[in-house]
Amino acid sequence: MIKDGLLVPQDVKHLNAEASQELRIHSIESFGTHDGPGIRMVVFVQGCQFRCLYCANPDTMDVKGGHFVEIEELVNRAVKQKPYFRKNGGVTVSGGEPLLQRSVLKKFFNRLHEEDIHTVLDSNGRLIDQQAKELLDVTDLLMLDVKHFNNAWHKKLTGLSNTNTFKVAEYRESTGKPMWLRYVLVPGWSDQEEHLHELGKYFKDYRHIERLEILPYHRLGVHKWEALGMEYKLKNVAPPDAQKLEDVALIFKNYFKDVRVN
Ligand code: SF4
Repeated sequence: MIKDGLLVPQDVKHLNAEASQELRIHSIESFGTHDGPGIRMVVFVQGCQFRCLYCANPDTMDVKGGHFVEIEELVNRAVKQKPYFRKNGGVTVSGGEPLLQRSVLKKFFNRLHEEDIHTVLDSNGRLIDQQAKELLDVTDLLMLDVKHFNNAWHKKLTGLSNTNTFKVAEYRESTGKPMWLRYVLVPGWSDQEEHLHELGKYFKDYRHIERLEILPYHRLGVHKWEALGMEYKLKNVAPPDAQKLEDVALIFKNYFKDVRVN
């Protein structure tokens, strides 16, 4: 069911069937170097309820798209790649939004741990319930995408509220396990100084945020929007220049010990 252009919960229920041993995925990248520490196998899951205007992978949004793959098949593939992971690599699950498939991902991460493989979850923090907490508990590193501090701007950018994202951060902090924050910098949309400072102040006392990564907005996904017949609303927005990135990094450095541009 579509309400206000967005999917309502019953549409995504099927993604989280507890008995399932299969993940609905979009694609797999074998040697990713941008999604977590070291060299990683990156599994892009299918399905997302956000509608970020800049989404580089709009073909991952459809919760009924993609294809299914058995967890054990993914584990076997990761085990084969393990020599390349060396000390700090491993497996990252990105998307799409992984929390929509939290039950099956918990099983996947538990299996990876049995094989001594490091796990990263790259999430927009869409939801937080008992199953989401259990997945976070078996996630070695959470990369939490905070799209905007201001809720009205967050809704403009993503279609949904940021309330749960902050709840996910709060839960993660309470467990004492590491997280990185990721912030997509979109000129004119997510670069307002006052909101960057607000974000910094909000998180400055969190002890388990190891790093803040600034992800410069780019237009690499535009052709996918066109191919899907969807309107790309940021046509006139240019990626941030070096000066803008430096300015924003300087602001965040007031609040976070490790700030990087990815
Ligand atoms: S959260 Fe990620 S996958 Fe979902 S719409 Fe936004 S950028 Fe795309």
